[in-house]
Amino acid sequence: MLEAAISLLVFLVGVSIGSFVNTAADRLPRRQSLIYPRSYCLSCNRDIPRRHLLPVISYLYLRGRCGGCGAKIPTRIIVIEILTGLLVAYAHHIGPEISVFLALTVSITILLVFAIIDLENRLILNRAILVGTGVFLLMAPFWTVIGSERTFLGENTFFASLSNSLLAAALAFLFFFLIRLSFPRGIGGGDEKMALLLGLMLGLSDALTALFCAIFAGGIVASVLLLSGRRGRKDAIPYGPFLALGGIVSLLTDLDVLASSTTLVSGLTGF
Ligand SMILES: [Zn+2]
Repeated sequence: MLEAAISLLVFLVGVSIGSFVNTAADRLPRRQSLIYPRSYCLSCNRDIPRRHLLPVISYLYLRGRCGGCGAKIPTRIIVIEILTGLLVAYAHHIGPEISVFLALTVSITILLVFAIIDLENRLILNRAILVGTGVFLLMAPFWTVIGSERTFLGENTFFASLSNSLLAAALAFLFFFLIRLSFPRGIGGGDEKMALLLGLMLGLSDALTALFCAIFAGGIVASVLLLSGRRGRKDAIPYGPFLALGGIVSLLTDLDVLASSTTLVSGLTGF
């Protein structure tokens, strides 16, 4: 009973964070402050009254329309609120310790903001990359305490954790940079910056898993779009959402591409 109540509470915290994710995704590309002005309708510019600002509930009560002008509120608003609620609740389920929970929640929040902005505007904002890099640089030495062990050359110290993250960031950046050099039209210029962020956030082994998931999911979606004729061969596909997806999968699951493939290879070859 108590456990269910706590899960519900964490879900509601997550829903409110989702509300913040929506605001950030709307305002950052417009170079607006996240705090001021208070929430307003993007269609009629009227301030949204406090009673209409409850995540999820207000959307349902207003039937997805602005209370002032009746303009449709994007479905994304409620989808992201609920999705963030679920992800944050799950993060709490796998990492109830406050430091782990905070680290996972901050990471998920940043990834979601990047995913929405790239999906809707085809943009990876340099300012957002800078903020994200700052946050993850500060966190980098402490992953041995706040999450998975992040060893480096057999060491398990703060310095090892930092070195592991920095190397992962450099390799992930380089990987996407080389892809872009080889296929200039395939991916956007922001993707390598987001890959850098992912490396810094996840460290070597998890970043590899995240990049693998991102490329796999991106490949499937690109094939479907190509085959269904909704995108031509020359259209670039924003990779930010897939990188965010890979990052979230690798944060919230035990999936380890390197370990699994080593197991697979040794199973197949008998070594
Ligand atoms: Zn309105």
